[in-house]
Amino acid sequence: REQALKELEDLETRCQNLSPDSIYGRFTELPLSPLTFQGLQQSNYVEMTEIQRKAIPIALRGRDLLGAAKTGSGKTLAFLIPLIESLYRKSWSQLDGLGALVIAPTRELAVQIFEFLRKVGRKHSLSAGLVIGGKDVNIEQERINRMNILICTPGRLLQHMDQTVNFKCDNLQVLVLDEADRILDLGFEKTINAIIENLPKERQTLLFSATQTKSIKDLARLSLQDPEYISIVEES
Ligand code: ADP
Ligand code: MG
Repeated sequence: REQALKELEDLETRCQNLSPDSIYGRFTELPLSPLTFQGLQQSNYVEMTEIQRKAIPIALRGRDLLGAAKTGSGKTLAFLIPLIESLYRKSWSQLDGLGALVIAPTRELAVQIFEFLRKVGRKHSLSAGLVIGGKDVNIEQERINRMNILICTPGRLLQHMDQTVNFKCDNLQVLVLDEADRILDLGFEKTINAIIENLPKERQTLLFSATQTKSIKDLARLSLQDPEYISIVEES
């Protein structure tokens, strides 16, 4: 047990010491838990994509981040790995409640992220659920309180925040806004603002977008603290 604690401390130290300027190529160069390495290996993820190479070391250090890169560049793992690792390093368990929230614009995207999480996080004992509407809200209400990680669409999440007794976010460590440009395009700006008001200020926020518009920068100002900006521009 003491040995396990020592390993977690060691992992935390190595994350804090990650150098932002170093070039990381493979996932195995990063200070990740053995459980995540196994999940990555079994899913055949070896080399990082460019956004992953730049975003994951920053996010592992606990920094807020705005990452812009086109569709298909690998943004999902760029936030899921730091999210899983953050909870792992805090020895997150069932009793700790909701630790991380991922908000996606549509049900389909939320389901995709959930499938990614089930693959890469399969060795971890964290519980994860989908909150996307279209299903019985009462069934969701029962399950939602037992989850460590929730993948949500904005409208349904806010509905639970307003209506579900015992739905607690006050222990939240990590918030992810995925495809933030599409979230705004679909008219969810007010919903997102209301959600963020319900969340603890002390948290890590990772915001990802395919484009960088003025409204994305406004959302970044509202939701991020002293963020790093990463933009992967396509070479032509
Ligand atoms: P984005 O969110 O930027 O549109 P995704 O996270 O959905 O991109 O990833 C796009 C595709 O690339 C997926 O099929 C995923 O499995 C694959 N992929 C992501 N990261 C890697 C990687 N490091 N190595 C190989 N394939 C990857
Ligand atoms: Mg994506």
